[in-house]
Amino acid sequence: MQVLKFGGSSVADATAMSRVLDIVSKAAEKDKVVLVSSAISGATDLLIKASGSSEEERNALLEELKKKHFKIIERLFTGREQFDTKESIEQIHKRLLEARRDDYQAFGELFSTTILAKKLAYEGLDTLWIDSVDLIRCKMGSVDKEYSYKRIREVVESHPEIRVFVAPGFIAGDENAQICTLGRGGSDYSAALYAAALGANTLQIWTDVPGIMTTNPKEVKKAQTISRLSYQAAFCLASHGAKVLYAPTVAPAQEAGIDIQILNSLDPKQKGSVICDYPAREEGEWIGIAKRVCGDTAELALVADGKIAQQSIEDVRMRLNKRDISQLEFRDEGNYLLLKVPVSQALDALATLHYFCFEKDDYRKVYLAGKGAVGSALLKIIAESDANIDICAISAHECEDEAFFRKMMEEASPNSIFVDCTDSESIWKWYVPVLEAGINIVSSNRRALSVPYAEYAAMKRSARLSRRFLRYETTVGTALPVLFSIATSAASSDEILSIEAVVSCTLNFILTSELPFAQALKKAQEIGLTEKDPSQDLLGRDATRKLLILAREAGVKLEEKDIEIEPVEEDKVRSNQRFVASLVKDDSSALGYKASIRMKEIDETHPARSLKGTENMIIIRSTYQPSPLIIQGAGEGAMMAASRVLNDILR
Ligand code: ASP
Ligand code: MG
Repeated sequence: MQVLKFGGSSVADATAMSRVLDIVSKAAEKDKVVLVSSAISGATDLLIKASGSSEEERNALLEELKKKHFKIIERLFTGREQFDTKESIEQIHKRLLEARRDDYQAFGELFSTTILAKKLAYEGLDTLWIDSVDLIRCKMGSVDKEYSYKRIREVVESHPEIRVFVAPGFIAGDENAQICTLGRGGSDYSAALYAAALGANTLQIWTDVPGIMTTNPKEVKKAQTISRLSYQAAFCLASHGAKVLYAPTVAPAQEAGIDIQILNSLDPKQKGSVICDYPAREEGEWIGIAKRVCGDTAELALVADGKIAQQSIEDVRMRLNKRDISQLEFRDEGNYLLLKVPVSQALDALATLHYFCFEKDDYRKVYLAGKGAVGSALLKIIAESDANIDICAISAHECEDEAFFRKMMEEASPNSIFVDCTDSESIWKWYVPVLEAGINIVSSNRRALSVPYAEYAAMKRSARLSRRFLRYETTVGTALPVLFSIATSAASSDEILSIEAVVSCTLNFILTSELPFAQALKKAQEIGLTEKDPSQDLLGRDATRKLLILAREAGVKLEEKDIEIEPVEEDKVRSNQRFVASLVKDDSSALGYKASIRMKEIDETHPARSLKGTENMIIIRSTYQPSPLIIQGAGEGAMMAASRVLNDILR
């Protein structure tokens, strides 16, 4: 036995009813069906209105309702069948005019199911309309299941020839067998009672949404269909305001061990939702949010399947705090969180919770290597920002931490990002495997990008093939948009004529400090500008790395051996000099460019004359730019570097 229930919108008009008839006829090919239907949409509301109206107005309203049904009949039936069906509706209409006003609301289901039953019968199916008033009995306001189940079974068993039973939802009989109702939205409940009584193997609730959703899609666009959820979670959502299901429906189905399928009559192929004995897992997960408004407070129930970790609950609270949402109440109810917020903040709270719990795909998953100045600053900025970033793992080690990489690669997804804030010489060996595993890379590690050209090219290639990004804007000129500017020229066939990079923070500091060289160098070392071994800076090691990165960004396959380096000689340094790494177009060289790093005298008119302290400057000349592009600004600072790394993560 299958029980199929259709809501008001699924039988709203002739087109909708035809869809229902299709679905039911197909189902009846497999097994017997009990078709439970609501009134056509709006009918119950209209009947309730009529029950409180003046005689004249009542007559008009009830006439209007009859006409609506006639219109459906005129489209679904012809000839004698149309005449007969209209006649049946006319009879019900007469009874309605004579009924007690309290009973009006029960008539909507009589109209709709009469039409459905007639149509199925005319189509040749063995159909029987059964009277829910007689079969479902209420005692002191609740359903007498024992009696009702027995009656339902008796009637169904006494009609073995019948293929489709058609039953009105929502209505039942009271102790005196007088008509009563099961509460607004009660047709779902009727269906569950029929299913439980008959031990049905299928219970389908057909509606006009794709299923039970993570929240009301009218309020949060990104609401998703929940494919499976437990009876408990479904009950919890339904009893806290989710309109898709009438909460009392859950109990009969659960007691009888019948799954409840929620399906979309507008798109029957969709999978919908299944409410079942979903084993509550040890590590629970959020399943949906129901919202209900009481006066000027909104109550949000964030429902879970299984037990939610305390940390997740704290995270929810933190998210709301960050958005300044006042929590009038925040209660952990075991399998759900009950939140009360001012109505004015309800939609914001709903969107925030939904985003946090169900739109995690938008989150960047960051795996950070290196907890030095930049790494630590990055963690701080992320913690303070609103950015949707999950820090999945941190490796404090400067070199390879196998476990860290293994975890990252196991969890790889298109939104995973490996962030290298180390200054490891060897960590670059991981770049290709990481990219190939489908993980993006953001690096502030200059050493990793200034490896031999073949290795660099392999990284770029892996990134391209696996469609992941490899970003390293901070490796030269920290926060200055240097690489971006060069890459833009290179990509738009604007040939680079020269790049002059005054990017050594150490030397810029020394040269502009007006202190004697040795003293200035010592100070630079103290404030952490220099390499661990400051002679590296004087030998141009750091400048070499930067120049390699710059040149390659411009499309030049520069290697270290191609760079002419004149180390800084302490006693020859004068303040009208700058330490310049340059790349100049030169057709006589095999590469097409000449690269050098040296102290250069610059006259008063040279832009680098204006540099102060640790500032950096890059001067780019290209064919189409009539005057050079000059990028100047602060060249160091952990917070600044970190914010630029964050930009690489997010952009
Ligand atoms: N027709 C009734 C109502 O509008 C019952 C139902 O649709 O489930 O409440
Ligand atoms: Mg309903």
